[in-house]
Amino acid sequence: SASEPRYRRVLLKLSGEALCRSGEFGIDAEELRLIGGEIVKAAKQGTQLAVVVGGGNMIRGAAMAKDGVIEQATADYMGMLGTVINALALKEVLEKLGQPARVLSAINLSSVAETFIRGRAIRHLEKGRVVIFAAGTGNPFFTTDSGAALRATEIGADVVLKATKVDGVYDKDPVKYPDAVRFERLSFDEAIDRRLAVMDLAAFTMCKDNGIPIVVFNMKTPGHIAEVVAGVGHGTLVEP
Ligand code: UDP
Repeated sequence: SASEPRYRRVLLKLSGEALCRSGEFGIDAEELRLIGGEIVKAAKQGTQLAVVVGGGNMIRGAAMAKDGVIEQATADYMGMLGTVINALALKEVLEKLGQPARVLSAINLSSVAETFIRGRAIRHLEKGRVVIFAAGTGNPFFTTDSGAALRATEIGADVVLKATKVDGVYDKDPVKYPDAVRFERLSFDEAIDRRLAVMDLAAFTMCKDNGIPIVVFNMKTPGHIAEVVAGVGHGTLVEP
């Protein structure tokens, strides 16, 4: 029927920077409250909502390793722990706003979060809880974009919704070129031919191989997360 949500189950990828003020680091209470409110609005529509949260507001492994003091693998584990901190903050604000939520971590941290178990994640979703996937893939040398593609595939999500600070995918950098044009829709092959960066390559390839469309959209517009989750938001749809 018309009131049925277009998507049954979605995976929302939020960068760590969704939790801090532009250009800053850490977690800002006001930003957290804002993004939490947006997610609650989205979840109330009845679509099952899983979230992968990044950690760029805490630690990026590559940046941490570049001085040669901390090895990349260790720096990446530090980065993954940063995503767990973000996930705990996000869960807290969702529950404060009345939305049940659970954190499932790819790294076993049994005192602070459930460990990721696929069937458990699906059960939480079926019970209407927002599931927050923490620690990315659980492996160094990956990103949380790859974590998003992986979890979306595992839980059978209908789509990956990639929240960014821009309105979608453009033919050139919209910050540098005022005449840049946004794509409404794109196929995976077109994105490859035009060398457009939709998500990192491992994540992009995983979505492509599993036929999971990606929507790139602006999370900073109020109400937009809920619209995109309902399948009516605008951004760029990358599809098979
Ligand atoms: N990371 C990792 N493996 C993963 C996911 C993340 O090693 O599967 C590390 C990596 O060091 C990365 C950091 O965690 O730089 C933070 O994640 P990401 O950069 O993807 O966060 P975002 O840009 O989405 O905020």
